[in-house]
Amino acid sequence: MPVSGLPPYDEGNIFARILRGEIPSRKVHEDEYALAFHDIAPQAPVHVLVIPKGRYVSAADFTAQAGPEEMAGFWRAVGQVARQLGLEGQGYRILTNMGADAGQEVPHFHVHIFGGKPLGPMLV
Ligand code: 5GP
Repeated sequence: MPVSGLPPYDEGNIFARILRGEIPSRKVHEDEYALAFHDIAPQAPVHVLVIPKGRYVSAADFTAQAGPEEMAGFWRAVGQVARQLGLEGQGYRILTNMGADAGQEVPHFHVHIFGGKPLGPMLV
């Protein structure tokens, strides 16, 4: 069921197509709950996207609809990917864009992991 006020899930979105293997990606991690791959237009030396395997439009949808096991599995994968990429020592930033004002481009919930250099202060 879509969350009230949110668009329904679009099966044709680019990350749904990556999950189905219709579009290639540079995969860094995959498990039951999540897939992680390098962003096609990196904004930092390390820029990886982590997406849940479930069909969620955004953070609002995911936090409202995902079950506890799915949620835990997803966030555990985020931490595991950061560790795997060697980011834990120096630190990293995780970010998600939700909806129009945040400029969310792809309507499948995703977390950006940025790292590999001092990232400076958040701009907003
Ligand atoms: P958003 O603005 O929705 O938070 O971020 C979407 C991200 O997806 C952007 O950083 C963009 O570069 C990335 N992206 C868009 N299309 C593709 C694609 O086909 N492959 C990969 N790996 N990343 C993509």
